[in-house]
Amino acid sequence: MSNVRTVAIVAGVIAAIVASAYLVGHHLAPDTARERTARTVAPATGAARPVAAAPKPPIAPAPPMAAQPITGPGRPPLPAERGGPFGSRRTTGTTGVALTFDDGPDPSQTPQALAMLRRYGVKATFCLVGVNVRAFPGLVRQIAADGHTLCNHSWEHDVRLGVRTRAGIRTDLLRTNQAIRDAAPGARVSYYRQPGGAWTASIVAVSRELGMTPLHWTVDPQDWRKPGAGSIASTVNSGTTRGAIVLLHDAGGDRHGTISALRSILPNLGRRFQLCALPPGIDPPRMHGREWPLKLGQI
Ligand SMILES: [Zn+2]
Repeated sequence: MSNVRTVAIVAGVIAAIVASAYLVGHHLAPDTARERTARTVAPATGAARPVAAAPKPPIAPAPPMAAQPITGPGRPPLPAERGGPFGSRRTTGTTGVALTFDDGPDPSQTPQALAMLRRYGVKATFCLVGVNVRAFPGLVRQIAADGHTLCNHSWEHDVRLGVRTRAGIRTDLLRTNQAIRDAAPGARVSYYRQPGGAWTASIVAVSRELGMTPLHWTVDPQDWRKPGAGSIASTVNSGTTRGAIVLLHDAGGDRHGTISALRSILPNLGRRFQLCALPPGIDPPRMHGREWPLKLGQI
């Protein structure tokens, strides 16, 4: 009896092994066939590729820098964005990153910043202080001639300008714009940045009335506190994302750390983003409320 059962079990095991072997073999066969097919197809595809690609223009010569610029003649102003304090602009609204330099021009440090920007082929935005514009008009002309965008930063860096009367604010901003245009005839001043970021509803409204976009920022390495080039570079390089506006200073004190940090910031951000001057246009005007519609470029 037990012999019969043993024979039956052994027979069952043998049957299972045979079946498994068949299945394994069956399973392997298509793989091998697929592999063979793939091997034979690959050369065919390779052979066909040059024929298919031949009519297309060569792709390699188009450099990555040939991306559509967001600034320059004939380009539209930035899309509306009012995420900063009191509705000021906080980002570029595009994938481009904008470097901004405040408090100049400075007779020693502005030329160094300009030289670094020239070396890396980067356009930026300079927020100018009226008294410095009056003192160094040649540098304002140089900034404009290099293709950078100009921004009003008040007549004498008045952090309390925002709490003055609207008439007082208006006089200050107009005086500064006039000094910039006297220094660089034909220059457009389409941005205003409030010293200290001390925005108020009044100063935002007046800058808009004068055709300027109130310009805040996204990334602030606090370079005016002189934390050292390493700290400035690391804050900017790690904190910058697409659409960021980066706040830097080329004047208003010893900016040696900022100038040194540019040796890291310019190549680092240049590899990862499109660095661009803010376009010399303004946000589309609101057509409601107490604001009047302004023509693009109106100052
Ligand atoms: Zn400033």
